[in-house]
Amino acid sequence: MTKRAYNFNAGPAALPLEVLQQAQEQLVDYAGAGMSIMEMSHRSAIYEQVNEETQSLLRELFGIPSNYKVLFLQGGASTQFAMIPMNLLPAGKVGAYVATGSWADKALKEAKLFGETTVVASSEADKFNRIPDLSNVEIPSNAAYLHVTSNETIEGTQYKQFPVTGDIPLIGDMSSDILSRPVDVSQFGLIYAGAQKNLGPSGVTIVIAREDLVQESPKSIATMLRYDTHVKNNSLYNTPPSFSVYLVNLMLKWVQSRGGVAAMEQYNRDKTQLIYDTIDQSGGFYRGFADAGSRSAMNLTFRIHSEELEKQFVKESEANGFVGLKGHRSVGGLRASTYNAVPLESCKALAEFMVDFQKRNG
Ligand code: PLP
Repeated sequence: MTKRAYNFNAGPAALPLEVLQQAQEQLVDYAGAGMSIMEMSHRSAIYEQVNEETQSLLRELFGIPSNYKVLFLQGGASTQFAMIPMNLLPAGKVGAYVATGSWADKALKEAKLFGETTVVASSEADKFNRIPDLSNVEIPSNAAYLHVTSNETIEGTQYKQFPVTGDIPLIGDMSSDILSRPVDVSQFGLIYAGAQKNLGPSGVTIVIAREDLVQESPKSIATMLRYDTHVKNNSLYNTPPSFSVYLVNLMLKWVQSRGGVAAMEQYNRDKTQLIYDTIDQSGGFYRGFADAGSRSAMNLTFRIHSEELEKQFVKESEANGFVGLKGHRSVGGLRASTYNAVPLESCKALAEFMVDFQKRNG
């Protein structure tokens, strides 16, 4: 049996063993071609089929309406922080942002380089431990879009519902929770996500955009940074990250074989409940960082009352086969990332380890 770590990395993150094994089987000879998919021309019929099929699978699994384009780009979600205002924020309009944490903040900072921005709601005063209440949020009438970060990977918070924005396009950074739960895509103008947490390896960024928003980009933008370049060329304008797209394809088939996105949501809920219950039943030994109503089902952030014990927790967890439990340096403490591919068994093992650690140190 292949020995696998209990991988709780925040990203790049765990992939299912079955997916890795399939990639291994096909590594040197894809579909009888006598070569690896990564050695093949991206203009070949075989790769074009991978490109098409991966789009169709994502459309089907995520319920993407036919008036939306699916793009496979490079540069990570961080490049989207810039491409969004470059393409969609004209002079005279304002880019509206919800400040929920570290990633929303980066998206906002980047947009400021290209145009006028405004923050319509923020939880900064509470160290970003929750998603602000957006039920009465006021979006300026000259807003080009409203940008939200559906899951804050570092703070461990997640939207339970998205704001209704009427005619103003809603833009969602779903890098750390795409395909972990059903989403009404039609509520969004554009969704983007780096693949390396829930969808596959790093190297490819998924953009799902309503056609009318990406048909015609401003002429002054560099070719590679224009959405219309990639729309017109079906994500094959230049050499695509073909091996990453192929792995996303395998990952999507894996999600499909597990019953689709709604089944993934239930599975993720079962996994995280094991850990959140352990935190809540610890009598204060463990403290969740995020407000209970904003807790993420992907990144579970928690603390122990002493930093010494937190260090010891990380050290002992590593000795017991756990990986990636140290919190991000900006929040401190501990973080378990439980993306789609993290098995229930890993979460069970972590919950047991936490109980045992408390017994020995409580
Ligand atoms: N947005 C969120 C929510 C993230 O978690 C990350 C990475 O962790 C990013 C954006 C940046 O993604 P990338 O590294 O693909 O640029």
